[in-house]
Amino acid sequence: MNIETIENATILIVDDKPENLKILFAFLSRYKFTVLAAQCGEDALVSAKENLPDIILLDIIMPGIDGFETCRQLKADEKTKRIPVLFLSSLSDTSDKVRGFNAGGVDYITKPFEQEELFSRITSHLHIAMLRKELEEKNMRLEQEIVRRRQAEESAETANRAKSEFLANMSHELRTPLNGILGYAQVLKRDKHLGESVKKGLNIIERSGLHLLNLINGVLDLSKIEARKMEISKSDFLFHEFLNGIVAMVQVQAQKKKLSFDFLTTADLPAGIHADENRLSQILLNLLGNAVKFTDQGSVIFSVSRVGVRGSGSGEKQEPLTPCPEPLTPDVRIRFQVEDTGIGIPHDRLNDIFLPFKQVGEHTRAIEGTGLGLAISRHLVRLLSSEMYVKSTPGSGTVFWFDLDLMPVSPLNIRKKSEEKHVIAYKGEKRKILIVDDKWENRTVLVSMLLPLGFEVAEASDGREGLNKAWEFMPDMVFMDLIMPGMDGFEAIRQIRRQPELAGIKLIAVSASTLNPPEQILAETGCDDYIPKPVRMQELQDKLAFHLQLKWIYEEENEPEGHEVSDMSDTDQTDISVPPDPEILELYNFALDGNFKALKDRLGHIEEADKSYVSFVRKLRQLADSLDEEMICGFLNEVRGSR
Ligand code: ADP
Repeated sequence: MNIETIENATILIVDDKPENLKILFAFLSRYKFTVLAAQCGEDALVSAKENLPDIILLDIIMPGIDGFETCRQLKADEKTKRIPVLFLSSLSDTSDKVRGFNAGGVDYITKPFEQEELFSRITSHLHIAMLRKELEEKNMRLEQEIVRRRQAEESAETANRAKSEFLANMSHELRTPLNGILGYAQVLKRDKHLGESVKKGLNIIERSGLHLLNLINGVLDLSKIEARKMEISKSDFLFHEFLNGIVAMVQVQAQKKKLSFDFLTTADLPAGIHADENRLSQILLNLLGNAVKFTDQGSVIFSVSRVGVRGSGSGEKQEPLTPCPEPLTPDVRIRFQVEDTGIGIPHDRLNDIFLPFKQVGEHTRAIEGTGLGLAISRHLVRLLSSEMYVKSTPGSGTVFWFDLDLMPVSPLNIRKKSEEKHVIAYKGEKRKILIVDDKWENRTVLVSMLLPLGFEVAEASDGREGLNKAWEFMPDMVFMDLIMPGMDGFEAIRQIRRQPELAGIKLIAVSASTLNPPEQILAETGCDDYIPKPVRMQELQDKLAFHLQLKWIYEEENEPEGHEVSDMSDTDQTDISVPPDPEILELYNFALDGNFKALKDRLGHIEEADKSYVSFVRKLRQLADSLDEEMICGFLNEVRGSR
């Protein structure tokens, strides 16, 4: 309703006296109003329902139902309750006015009335009614919009859940055959007597398998990013060692294509940083890999430099008033830049390259990649609170760069990564391992990894058979696939856990599902540990060593005894009070990750919670200072064994 509609409003006047109606009629007819009249309450009710006037002027004292009752009935009716009622009466007591308002009237005017005043009141109530109507309509539209959006959100969520489930299932299905391919590639490559062409073939199998794995991981990464489930996991690491590792990987590819590869750094880079090493290397390897892939001649330049300091004010160092164990270091801004003299990217395609599965340029190059790398890398850079930039000239080359604010840390507490050693056997008595998996190729991979190390191995193809074999074979450890037809791994684990005679068996879940974090898998299954498929030899060895308290014999060791914990220990382990296994497992994993800071922090908590562990903590701290992961793991195994 606008001003025009106010002027054209319909007014119902109700009065039992014809002369009053006449006066009112004459007065209101001077305007553009449509005027209706009723001479009693009953007629007024009928007319109001039929004509739905915009306002009602209502007399009070009338034969039949009076004005108060008429108003109450109007207000009780869904159809007429919104029509404003203005009492027009010769009753001038306050109590009458109050009754009028209580009956639902919006105003009360005593007779005789001033025409100007009556007109003002009528238009003002019409105006209020108009605003209220508009507000109600807006409200209704908003409510409808909320319902619509909620439904859209719900269906998007359902679709997302279905997509996640589909991806998890697909990933599982694809990882299973990959476990066979990659597992066997690893096993066969260990054979020293292979001919060159077989070695080459194996490398191709492994590379293709890894490519497929990258593709699966890429799709999963993207879906995790979209579902906001991607997590950043930071640790301390040596910056130069990290960068050199990346450079070493890319240099080989550049050499193969006879490209010059330059790695430029500034002298002011921090020695150690606290960041997500895996994600940073994922981004850099993608940019550098692309630079090499899309360049046929010339060079690739990888530069890492400091571009500014965040949060340090003037940048001047201030002496702390009191010594503090962990000084709050301001982040340093580091620019990572990858420049090539390659084919370049057309200007109008610069945005496309960041879209999943978008590849620009020739088909032959495209098939080498997945088209997911840049989409993931840009998401990851954004997750690290920054932005990725690109500049390119077709035919001349491309530059990608991004800046990250990184926290420098002291390099003293960071372990240098040691070369992986070749394990050939373990010390001590023969251990028995049961492998339960419905896919024979998965079992064969594990068998082939375990037999050469000297384990006695048995196999079962589902949960029920696994359970029977566990009784028969009495293994030290079971590798249990989780999803199997018949009795699945979850049920088999539950049943094994229920038997006191089988209590000593270590249960390791082996699963190709990667959407759930390992902690969740452990909690759901009640297993001792978890290994994802495709199984990596190194991880398998780490878990075996920890859970079976094994000491490995390495190929290059001249001295067959290897690392003896007692040699390096000045404490008799049998005297040491040792924390429970979950704590030890956590410490063990910190050591394996080379995260000595987290390990020491954890030791602090253990010591604080129970003073009886003081000797244990002291010894482990000494070992942590030496930054030797193997000594720490050896010590942890030893003390558990001595319990
Ligand atoms: P891919 O696996 O295909 O490399 P990316 O998402 O990493 O997928 O890259 C997407 C596309 O962007 C590439 O297929 C290529 O067309 C283009 N691109 C990326 N980096 C470069 C580069 N350095 N030079 C030229 N084109 C590039």
